[in-house]
Amino acid sequence: MRPFRYERPGDPDAAIALLASEPQARFLGGGTNLVDLMRLGVEAPPLLVDVSRLGGDAITEAPGGGLRIAAGVTNSRLAADTRVRERYPVLSEALLNGASGQLRNLATVGGNLLQRTRCPYFQDISKACNKRSPGSGCSARTGDHRNHAVLGHSEQCVATHPSDMAVALTALEATVETRADGGERALPIADFYRLPGEHPERDTVLEHGELITAVRLPPLPAAASSRYRKVRERRSFAFALVSVAAVLTVSDGVVDEVRLAFGGVAHAPWRARVTEDRLRGAPAEEAAFTAAVEAELARAEPLRDNAYKLPMLQRVATQTLLDLAGGS
Ligand code: SF4
Repeated sequence: MRPFRYERPGDPDAAIALLASEPQARFLGGGTNLVDLMRLGVEAPPLLVDVSRLGGDAITEAPGGGLRIAAGVTNSRLAADTRVRERYPVLSEALLNGASGQLRNLATVGGNLLQRTRCPYFQDISKACNKRSPGSGCSARTGDHRNHAVLGHSEQCVATHPSDMAVALTALEATVETRADGGERALPIADFYRLPGEHPERDTVLEHGELITAVRLPPLPAAASSRYRKVRERRSFAFALVSVAAVLTVSDGVVDEVRLAFGGVAHAPWRARVTEDRLRGAPAEEAAFTAAVEAELARAEPLRDNAYKLPMLQRVATQTLLDLAGGS
């Protein structure tokens, strides 16, 4: 690991100013991803600005309903919060599926949102990778891409996003609050992440020096009926081959509210809007669920070795919706 400077400022404005002073500086939360990348030589920031103790670690009732989760809240605390477990169980389940207990104790909400892809070529500095080194090529396109994207990828990058939490937040339509030199903004999570396009080096729309301060969950009574399902290669902690975050309520046998997001299949959590549009007002039964998920996956473009994800995702999504319909 290369030498670097470490600063722990006392307030967010000082942290933002410090970061602005060095174009290659990085904010540091729990460090569970960034420090690994520094050890691998993928990241070499000359300055780390520790923000893990800034902005508080509170989970509070938001004005107008919902919850406001400060960026420094650890994944463990968020998963265990009674309000989250009762009102947004999909989020608690995603966090518990996301990492080991040790990692959850250290990882913060802000850091979780900014995890980088686990594409093995991104993590190997001897390999071509447009995300790590723009213009160098994409080794995964012709190499090992069994775990890569089937939706929304580009010629430049076929990586998937690794966060389980972000998939649940996408289904819940969370908002990411940020602060920078120019002021504050609130970004719907659907606008926060990017598909790779011509610039896979950018995972999000954040500007350099823009600090995540909190995540806001909207009031969503339907989310009490929600679930997270994940398929991975081994039972102990591993990243998703496919995952599903679903919210579903049913009235008189007809779908009332539905929100669905997929993980492990795209550069960002994938909101399944085609499925949702087909299901609102449809009979809450297997044939309708199957057809609606199929319609979403008709847009998929699997690579040479990862078409297996499509029937896997089809089954997991349909079964998750069936389970929720059974419990409504
Ligand atoms: Fe790099 Fe993306 Fe290609 Fe992986 S898929 S090698 S992250 S450009």
